[in-house]
Amino acid sequence: MSTIASAVSRMVTPVVGDTFDVERVRRDFPALLQSIDGKPLVYLDSAATTQKPDAVIEAVERFYREDNANIHRGVHRLSVRATDAYESARRKVARFVGASRPEEIVFVRGATEAINLVAQTFGRTHLGVGDEVLISHMEHHANIVPWQMLCEQTGAQLRVMPINDRGEIIIDEYERLLGPRTKLVSIAHVSNALGTINPVQGMIALAHARGIPVLVDGAQAVPHMKVDVRTLDADFYVFSGHKTFGPTGIGALYGRYELLDQLPPYQGGGDMITSVTFEKTTYAKAPQRFEAGTPHIAGAVGLGAAIDYLEAVGLQGITAYEHELLTYATEALSGLPEVHLVGTARDKAGVLSFTVDGAHPHDVGTILDQQGIAVRAGHHCAQPVMERFGVPATVRASLAFYNTREEIDVLVRGLRGVIEVFR
Ligand code: PMP
Repeated sequence: MSTIASAVSRMVTPVVGDTFDVERVRRDFPALLQSIDGKPLVYLDSAATTQKPDAVIEAVERFYREDNANIHRGVHRLSVRATDAYESARRKVARFVGASRPEEIVFVRGATEAINLVAQTFGRTHLGVGDEVLISHMEHHANIVPWQMLCEQTGAQLRVMPINDRGEIIIDEYERLLGPRTKLVSIAHVSNALGTINPVQGMIALAHARGIPVLVDGAQAVPHMKVDVRTLDADFYVFSGHKTFGPTGIGALYGRYELLDQLPPYQGGGDMITSVTFEKTTYAKAPQRFEAGTPHIAGAVGLGAAIDYLEAVGLQGITAYEHELLTYATEALSGLPEVHLVGTARDKAGVLSFTVDGAHPHDVGTILDQQGIAVRAGHHCAQPVMERFGVPATVRASLAFYNTREEIDVLVRGLRGVIEVFR
């Protein structure tokens, strides 16, 4: 049995009856089992990056210890093993998101690179002066700036669908904005700043009814819920390995094959060609066409191990557990009159963005850190949505399936301390 398989099989399925055995899960994450200034770490920053289970750490280590070689062109044993490991990770990602075939998965650095890739290939090919890209008011900068750059390059325009005071897309307005010049819709599946789960399946159907393709930014969705790109009928779907319990520097772009294989190359270099002469170069088919240069091979292997791990734990159990934890946390924070939630959508994932009366979010974050509580304070790379809610920044506590009710209680106690300081 491989080290990865044995690491995964060491874990006993944590869903026992209908209780999720969070203590068992926590033992798989070495970074969680530490103290900060003598206080147990309470890690509530998984929307920024998730912690890594042993299975991922060991898979990456084993790759470097045993199989490390460059991929695709090697004839020697290590290169064959490294290629197998990399391509097997691609198959895992494809299966995990419900792609029809592994060739629909392009390995990239993360969601950011995936969106830039689509902007510079699909966007440069299909958009011209007066055409429109439609995004929402709650997007991460990674799903705003690449389109602004594309608009500068092509003369296209960025259009923005409005959101209501709960932080939900106003679907009537969205429909109204889908016009004859709309060439692409690009929306977050889950908002990193508000936690809103957008009704992407219905939104895709509305766009497709007008022949408009849709990119879904799944950076905050894939770690928390079962995603099936074919059920959603997404044309492009992107996510980051490091938010999915895998390594940093690796992520995936899913593209419907007919669409993907029509796109021009993104970057030029080794591994993306079929032949090169000074007169003419011909390009490989997708996905190789988009993977110029030596990729993050160990990262892909680690991402594959993260997927194995998530599947062993079970995404259904994860979603149910996190939902219950979010409800508990929302009720707990609602009991503090000085704390104001930003983002109260009816359908939400485990993000609690809030302000505290009289306290700057950075001060809140710093005081909580002294209690061993890791939260994020700032604009969360989503300045337009902060502006929409009239705040420069928020404190954000974000959950994963390794968090507990006790940790939420510690957060609430920490916030009571903050409120005392600023009273
Ligand atoms: N989209 C969303 C919704 C995100 O939360 C993030 C990361 N915070 C990104 C895109 C960008 O991901 P990365 O930095 O991993 O490329």
